[in-house]
Amino acid sequence: MNLSFSPEYEAFRADVRAFVAEHWTAADAAATEVDPDSVAAMTGAAVRTDERAASFRTLAIERGYLYRHVPRAYGGSEQPPDPLKAVIIAEEFKAAKAPFEIMGQGPSMLVPTLLEHGTEAQKQRFVRDTLVGKIRWCQGYSEPGAGSDLASLRTKAELDGDHWVVNGQKIWTSSAQEAEWMFALVRTEPDRPKHDGITYMLIEMNSPGIDVRPLRQMTGDVDFSEVFFENVRVPADGVIGERGQGWVVSRSTLKHERALIGNAALQRRTFDGLLLLAQTVELRGGRAIDDPVIRDRLVAVETRLLAAERHGQRLLTLSARGEDPGFAAMVPKLYATGLSYDIAKLAMDVQGDKGLLAIGEEQAHFSGMFTVAYMWSLGILIAGGTANIQRNIIAERGLGMPREVRK
Ligand SMILES: Cc1cc2nc3c(=O)[nH]c(=O)nc-3n(C[C@H](O)[C@H](O)[C@H](O)COP(=O)(O)OP(=O)(O)OC[C@H]3O[C@@H](n4cnc5c(N)ncnc54)[C@H](O)[C@@H]3O)c2cc1C
Repeated sequence: MNLSFSPEYEAFRADVRAFVAEHWTAADAAATEVDPDSVAAMTGAAVRTDERAASFRTLAIERGYLYRHVPRAYGGSEQPPDPLKAVIIAEEFKAAKAPFEIMGQGPSMLVPTLLEHGTEAQKQRFVRDTLVGKIRWCQGYSEPGAGSDLASLRTKAELDGDHWVVNGQKIWTSSAQEAEWMFALVRTEPDRPKHDGITYMLIEMNSPGIDVRPLRQMTGDVDFSEVFFENVRVPADGVIGERGQGWVVSRSTLKHERALIGNAALQRRTFDGLLLLAQTVELRGGRAIDDPVIRDRLVAVETRLLAAERHGQRLLTLSARGEDPGFAAMVPKLYATGLSYDIAKLAMDVQGDKGLLAIGEEQAHFSGMFTVAYMWSLGILIAGGTANIQRNIIAERGLGMPREVRK
C-alpha cells in the first residue's frame, strides 16, 4: 500500500509551508505556549486568540487554508472539499505552531448550527468574528437535573414585549468565565411535551442579571462554571430557528460537539507524548520503552489510535463526497474517549509513583501534563453525552435495537 502524497499534493504542501514561513515567524512560534490541539483547547479556553493570531488567521482564510467549509460571505474560505489538503494544512500549521482553526465551542459547534439554522442577519453578525476568536462562546445546555436527560431542562424564558426574560440555572458551562456570548437551551412553552417546549437562544454574557460562579475541578484549574439567570433580558431576535424548535436545532450542535471530541488529533498528541515519556523514564531497572509489558501495551493502544485516525479520514472522505456517514459517525466519540483514557492510564503506569505528584511539582515528569491528561480523560468520557448514552445511541439508532423506555 502506498501512503505517500502525489506530486500535486507535495506541491500544495510546499505552498502551505512557504505561506506559513512568511507570515508566522519563529518569534511568533516561540510566543505560542499552547499547542492548538492541546487538552485545554478542547474547551476553547487556552487557544491563542490575540490580535496577532487573529490577523494571521484572517490571512490564512483569505489564502483558502482555514475554515474551508464556510462560505466566504460569512468569513470562511469556501474551498472545494479535499480531505488530503485538509490533512496537509493541519500538519504544516502544527509544525510551525501557527494558529489553526479554533477548536472551541463557537467555531466548532455554534458556527455549523448557525449555517444550518440561522437567519442571514445572524450569520453576518456572528460567524466571521467567531471564526477568528473575536467572539468567544459557551454552551448553556446542562442544568442540575438535566444532563443525560437534557430535555428535562427548566431554565425558562418568557416573552415581554420585544424581549425574552430568562430565569434559571445552568451548570458545567465550559469557558463561561471568559465567554462574551452563550448559546443556550431554554423552556419557552412549559405546557408542551418536554422536547417540544424548548427554544435555542443566544445570550450576551454581560447582560444584567447573569451571575457566573466558577467551579474548580480536580486538575486545580477552573474551566467551567455555574451560571445563574435572574430576569435577564434577551432581544426577541436572539432565537435560532423557530420558537419551541430548539430541540431540533440542538441536535445539530450536539452532532458537531461529538465530532469535535471524537477527533483523534487529541489522542495522537497524548500518545506521541507518551512515547517520549516511555523513552525518558526508568522502570524496573531500564527505560520504560524497553520493558516488554509496556511495549505490548504501547502497541495495543497505537493500533487502536491508527484505527481511529483511519476512521476519521473515512468520515472526512464521506463528507467530502456529500454522503451520509450514518452509523459510522456515531462511533468516534465513544471510541476516542475510551482510547484517551487508556493512553493516559498507561502514561500514569509508566510514571509509577511520580504520577501521583501534583501538577507543576519539580520532580513531576513533563510538569505533570500526563496527570492532567488522565484527569481530563475522565471528564471527556462524560462531556457531550456520557459513554453510556453513546452506547444507547449506537444500539438504538445505529443497530436498530429496541429503544429504552422514555420518561
Ligand atoms: C469536562 C466537561 C465539560 C462540560 N462542558 C459542558 C458545557 O460546556 N456545557 C454544558 O451544557 N454541559 C457541559 N458538561 C456537562 C455534560 O454535558 C453532562 O455532565 C453530561 O451530559 C452528563 O450529565 P450529568 O452530569 O447530569 O450526569 P447524569 O445524566 O446524571 O448521569 C449520571 C450517570 O448515569 C448514567 N446515565 C444517565 N442516564 C442514563 C441512561 N439513560 N442510560 C444509561 N446510563 C445513564 C450516565 O452515563 C452517568 O454515568 C460538561 C461536562 C464535563 C465533564
